[in-house]
Amino acid sequence: MSKAFLGKLVLNWCDKCHTPVLGKKCFCGEETRSVSITPPGDIRPAFKADIDHINDLYLKQFGEKLVPEGHIVILNKIPDVDRMEEVIMGGAVVCAYRYIPSEKRWELLPRVHAAKYSKPKYKYIVADDGAVEPIKKGSSLLAPGLVDIEESVKADDEVFILSKSGECIAVGRSRVSAKEAKEMDRGPVAKTRKTKPDVCVPGEASWEKAVGANTNILNNAESEAVNFVKSVVSKNPGLQCNVSYSGGKDSLATLLIVLKAIGKVPVLFSDTELEFPETYKNVEEVVEKYGLDIVRTGAGETFWEDFEVEGPPAVDVRWCCKVCKLLPVKRIIEEKWGECLSFIGQRKYESLARMKSPRVWRNYKVQVQLSAAPIQHWTALHVFLYLFREKAPYNILYKRRIDRIGCFMCPSSDLATFEIIKAEYPDLWKMWEEKLYYWMNKQGLSEDWVKNAEWRKRGGEDDTSSYT
Ligand SMILES: [Zn+2]
Repeated sequence: MSKAFLGKLVLNWCDKCHTPVLGKKCFCGEETRSVSITPPGDIRPAFKADIDHINDLYLKQFGEKLVPEGHIVILNKIPDVDRMEEVIMGGAVVCAYRYIPSEKRWELLPRVHAAKYSKPKYKYIVADDGAVEPIKKGSSLLAPGLVDIEESVKADDEVFILSKSGECIAVGRSRVSAKEAKEMDRGPVAKTRKTKPDVCVPGEASWEKAVGANTNILNNAESEAVNFVKSVVSKNPGLQCNVSYSGGKDSLATLLIVLKAIGKVPVLFSDTELEFPETYKNVEEVVEKYGLDIVRTGAGETFWEDFEVEGPPAVDVRWCCKVCKLLPVKRIIEEKWGECLSFIGQRKYESLARMKSPRVWRNYKVQVQLSAAPIQHWTALHVFLYLFREKAPYNILYKRRIDRIGCFMCPSSDLATFEIIKAEYPDLWKMWEEKLYYWMNKQGLSEDWVKNAEWRKRGGEDDTSSYT
C-alpha cells in the first residue's frame, strides 16, 4: 500500500501540549515532531468506547489497563485481513489491535512504548544483561539469555521482553510456553518485533486542548475549503447548490463549510431505508439546528425487490448503490432542479481510489449532478477537531465504535464491525440474517456462506463505482 500512496502523512505531536498537531507548528509556539504511522494514515480520535475496548483487551492479555484517565488517544486503521488499528499515545504508536475473523476474537499487539503507560502483570519475559543489547537491535531472545518467564506464557503469545531492572527492551511473540522455555538450553524463546527509533512522551491533555493546539491549522483548512466552495459556485453560475448529507461526520463538516461559504442550501438525503436509527435522528437534528430544507429521496421497496433477483449485494457486485442511491438521486435532481451542484464529504484519505479522485467530478451514471469535495484533503482527525470546535451535532454512532455510517449491512464493512452491530442491534441483524438464510436456501448454498459472511464477496473485482 505504501508504494502507491499519494498523500503525505500529516500527524505531528507537540510535547509541550501533549496533543496531536496537523502541521509543523503548534499554536503554543512550539515546533512539533512527526509521528511515524502506517499510510494512508486516516487518523481519528478514540472515543470512550474505543478506549474501554483497548483497556479491556490489555487487561485480558497483560493484567492491567493501558490508557490512564486524562490522556488522549488516536486511532489509525491499517491494512490487515479484517480490522486492525494502530493506537497512538504520547506521539508514538503504543500498540495495535486487530480482529481475527477465523477465531472471532480481538488481539492486542503491544509496542515497546506501551510499557511507559502500564507495566505488564502477565505475558512478560526477563532477559539477562548480556542479551539486552542484541535484543534491542532486533535479535530473538535465546534460551541462554532467559532469566525469567511469566508462567501463563504460551507458545505464540504476544509478550513483553524486560531487562532485569524492569525496563521494556522489546516486544514480540513467544515461540514456546513458559514451561518449555524453562527446560530449554538452546534455541529461541521469543521472536522480537522490529522497533522504530521514535519517542513517546506521555502527558495529560484533552480534546479541547487539541482543538486549541490546531487553531491555525483548522483556520487555514477551513478558509481553503470555503474558498474552494466559492470558486466552484462562481464557475458554475445558475446551478442549484446543495449538500449531500449522509448523517456521517464528513458530510457534516462539508455542510458547515458550505454554510460559511454561501449560506443556507438544501440538504439532499438519500434514504436507503437501511440506515441506523441514530442516522435518521442525526439528519433531523442537523436540519433543525441549522434551519435547512431537506430533500429526501429513497429507493422504497426497490432494494428488497432486487434482492429477490440478485441476492445480497457484495463488494464486487454492488447493485445496491445504483438502486438505492444513484437512481433515486438522479430522479429527484431531474424532477426538482434539472441539474445541480452537490457538495459531498469525500476525502482522499478514505481509500486509494479516493486518493486518485478529482475534487470536482460528474458520476457517469448521474450526469445531472456536478459533485465537489471541499474537504478532499482532510484526514478524519481534521474533521473531528473541526466538528468539536464548531460544537456540531455529529452522529453518536462514532461513540459506539461504528465509524462507517451508511447501510448497516454494507458488504464493504469489516467483520469486526458486523460483530459490534450484532451485539448492539440484535433485531436489525436478525432481520438481515433471515434474508441471507432465505437466499442461501433458495440457491442451495452452504451454511458457511452466511456464518462466515461469504456473501460479502462473489469472487470478482471490487466494484468501486459507489455513490460518492
Ligand atoms: Zn503546543
